Amino acid sequence: MRVFNFAAGPATMPLEVLEQAREELTDWSGSGMSVMEVSHRSKAFVAVAAAAETRLRRLLGVSDDYHVLFLQGGATGQFAAIPMNLAGPGDTVSYVNTGAWSKKAIGEARRFAEVEVVADEAASGYSTVPDATSLSPAPGSRYLHYTPNETIGGVEFGYVPDAGDVPLVADFSSTILSRPVDVDRFSLIYAGAQKNLGPAGICLVIVRKDLAGQARDGTPMVWDYAQMAAADSMLNTPPTLAWYLVGLVLEWVERQGGLPAMAARNRAKAEQLYTTIEESPFYSNPVAPAARSWMNVPFLLADSALEPTFLTEAREAGLVNLEGHRSVGGLRASIYNAMPLEGVTALTDFMKEFERRHG
Ligand code: PMP
Repeated sequence: MRVFNFAAGPATMPLEVLEQAREELTDWSGSGMSVMEVSHRSKAFVAVAAAAETRLRRLLGVSDDYHVLFLQGGATGQFAAIPMNLAGPGDTVSYVNTGAWSKKAIGEARRFAEVEVVADEAASGYSTVPDATSLSPAPGSRYLHYTPNETIGGVEFGYVPDAGDVPLVADFSSTILSRPVDVDRFSLIYAGAQKNLGPAGICLVIVRKDLAGQARDGTPMVWDYAQMAAADSMLNTPPTLAWYLVGLVLEWVERQGGLPAMAARNRAKAEQLYTTIEESPFYSNPVAPAARSWMNVPFLLADSALEPTFLTEAREAGLVNLEGHRSVGGLRASIYNAMPLEGVTALTDFMKEFERRHG
């Protein structure tokens, strides 16, 4: 029996994708082999890799001015790869701090460049995003980095910062493909796959071609965007199974109607959940309304002592992985693309029923 899985990542996958993968597992494409047993250099796999790139470009509207890379090392690897590729030692780079993942990106960048934190939402307890008009990169910055969606805090930007002539770099790990985005506003977009793109083990990097090719001396070749682009992301053996699954997820997103359809669904899911939280003093969400995430919804019970009971009863009702991140506690529902509206309805029905019994 499938449960509704509200995990933050690795996260729920579209059931159709899992069923297709199961169907093809032992005899893929008439090869008599699994996709994970064929060479990454085989014609058949190269076609899978190319099709995933084409679909991604089509879905997000990524022009020929950008490389699309499928790398390893996760978004965490990119925390280092970004300054290595886009800044020299001692150069200034600007970062926006909106919470846990911004902080990790900042911490890693400090090992490679001079980090200026140009906005820090500490005063609000990381429940807000900076005002659009107040945000600008420090003078001489090689780039401005921000986190459009903070997976732990549940804080999401409703706008794209204006960095002027400074390249804009964004960690889209937990919001990629959740709604349309104007890729041309960005110089670099990156995202670990394990939320909206597929399974863990592969990381998407979309980088302007004119910014690749300036990696600092000593950059490992697997982190060098230009070298990876020249090798079609196959300088080392790529995670072929994950890449194939990302391709199936992208096909699934296209079948749903692409990003406008995903956005409409995601908005409806988020509104339903936030409304349930808002309607009752039994539940609360700490994030400023304008900065509430469509993907990750943290919430608290008025009586936190009831949390273990909530989690146990939810699990019994087939609603799993609702605990908040270990660093912050509380509860959290991650409602990525693959979470159907029925899953959110099952959750909000459960929440109302739980309140009736325990409120
Ligand atoms: N950035 C964000 C916004 C994330 O949510 C995560 C993972 N939860 C990461 C970075 C780190 O990703 P990875 O584990 O793929 O390195």
